[in-house]
Amino acid sequence: VALCEAEAAPPARSGPGVVEPRFNWKLFWQFLRPHLLVLGAAVVLALGAALVNVQIPLLLGQLVEIVAKYTRDHVGSFLTESRNLGTHLLILYGLQGLLTFGYLVLLSRVGERVAADMRRALFSNLLRQDIAFFDAKKTGQLVSRLTTDVQEFKSSFKLVISQGLRGCTQVAGCLVTLSMLSTRLTLLLMVATPALMGAGTLMGSALRKLSRQCQEQVARATAVADEALGNVRTVRAFAMEQREEELYGAELGGSRCKAEELGRGIALFQGLSSIAFNCMVLGTLFIGGSLVAGQQLTGGDLMSFLVASQTVQRSMASLSVLFGQVVRGLSAGTRVFEYMTLSPCIPLSGGHCIPREHLRGSITFHNVCFSYPCRPGFHVLRDFTLTLPPGKIVALVGQSGGGKTTVASLLERFYDPTAGTVTLDGQDLRTLDPSWLRGQVIGFISQEPVLFGTTIMENIRFGKLDASDEEVYAAAREANAHEFITSFPEGYNTVVGERGATLSGGQKQRLAIARALVKQPSVLILDEATSALDSESERLVQEALDRASAGRTVLVIAHRLSTVRGAHQIVVLAHGRVCEVGTHEELLKKGRLYSELIRRQALDAPPPETPR
Ligand code: ADP
Ligand code: MG
Repeated sequence: VALCEAEAAPPARSGPGVVEPRFNWKLFWQFLRPHLLVLGAAVVLALGAALVNVQIPLLLGQLVEIVAKYTRDHVGSFLTESRNLGTHLLILYGLQGLLTFGYLVLLSRVGERVAADMRRALFSNLLRQDIAFFDAKKTGQLVSRLTTDVQEFKSSFKLVISQGLRGCTQVAGCLVTLSMLSTRLTLLLMVATPALMGAGTLMGSALRKLSRQCQEQVARATAVADEALGNVRTVRAFAMEQREEELYGAELGGSRCKAEELGRGIALFQGLSSIAFNCMVLGTLFIGGSLVAGQQLTGGDLMSFLVASQTVQRSMASLSVLFGQVVRGLSAGTRVFEYMTLSPCIPLSGGHCIPREHLRGSITFHNVCFSYPCRPGFHVLRDFTLTLPPGKIVALVGQSGGGKTTVASLLERFYDPTAGTVTLDGQDLRTLDPSWLRGQVIGFISQEPVLFGTTIMENIRFGKLDASDEEVYAAAREANAHEFITSFPEGYNTVVGERGATLSGGQKQRLAIARALVKQPSVLILDEATSALDSESERLVQEALDRASAGRTVLVIAHRLSTVRGAHQIVVLAHGRVCEVGTHEELLKKGRLYSELIRRQALDAPPPETPR
């Protein structure tokens, strides 16, 4: 635990002063390795296409030569002389088209597969992060890593292979031609190039940093939009459209500024490189000219040299355009890989399970202390000790914000205690398999049930994927939901809308209860399950809950005390500790915190005796 905390301690991972994450080449290599063969083939085809590209101007030159010859002296047949060259060129054109087609097909195959693999890996690693991770992150930002960043990375990867390879081959091919024309001039060219490259690299790293910031800002804007669109009902209810617009506008403005800054950086880079290359041409003419004057070079060769070095320059320029894309691609890749290597403190699975026939469902919190990782100094629970006897109903009451939901979260092992232990049948939760614990032992029903935007059937089956239809119906009946479900025209195939938006609160809650019951949990946690409901829904839900509680270890968390009178034991939580324990009557007799709470609620709510 101590180790985990040390890692989780700096919550602001991307804040200033934190080392910038670097592109993870090793991980990238792992994604690339399965496709090396296809990638290799693509590279070979692309190289072939580029080589053909270098050939074509030479042949065209020869053709022009022939044309020039016939414009000078009109003897012989132009057609016979040029036919060979023409067919040769046609073949090359065809070959180039074929090679281009081939490498693009292979490249898009590799690119799409690597991107899909990356998305799958990132998604699965995001899903297994600690709940604390999600406390600190916005969904929109995470989603944009899955979408935009992978997309950006993929397209620059493909560009590097296609354009980059062509540019490099042309540069290399022309350099060979150049060195055949004049070694001396080529050497001079080669001396100037590394100096320029060094300067370019320096600028490049600055641009990379800028690009990273730029993408982060875009993700922030996306997150604002995501939150507003996702919670559009709340936004509408508060008439906050304009404020959301302003928020989005502000973030968007920020990202525009950054992007413009990046654009200026790239423009500066390209402007400077264009000057540099032009100066190189001038230098070549100057030095070449003096060589010609000293009769060490013919004028024609100097001309050819210039033409070839122009090709080099053009290729280099297109490479520098590509460089901008590479910068963006690398920083997008960095962001994709960042969360791919992050490992959670609480694993999803691993550890042992207690066989169902031996499971009693007795739960104990031993001197548990807890503070949330994103708010380390704030102690929610201190020295909290509580036992839930098997098959009994224990109610946890206390003020709002007192840490009741936190107790439930610890039981679900969304977090580990800072100190102390939570045990199930005497075994530390940390030694048990979390997916078994959550999937089969504990049924958790929260105040705000969240459904998925699919059918009722699938929503209930979310509790147990292999549940038969009969099991689903049984769970729905137990949850008092069968009746309203069958009253819908589509019955169990009714689609409930995003997060269950097309159902009433009570209906949603009953579906959530059915979803929890279908896995036949031994332990049931009801976290203020009825407090958001009107009294009629509350009666239906409460009835379902009472039925479901029989024979199970139940932790009822309740703010409204009328709902917990029947519990075997009532525990009052205050200041992160257990203050009072007893039955309703015992605690009333004590006349301390509990009776005080009862008195206060009786003042602002109808007394529990009143029939509702
Ligand atoms: P209750 O359920 O009793 O109303 P909670 O357990 O939800 O109270 O919250 C207890 C305290 O912990 C509150 O002060 C709340 O602000 C804080 N808290 C709750 N959830 C988180 C979280 N995810 N991260 C940080 N603090 C939290
Ligand atoms: Mg709560």
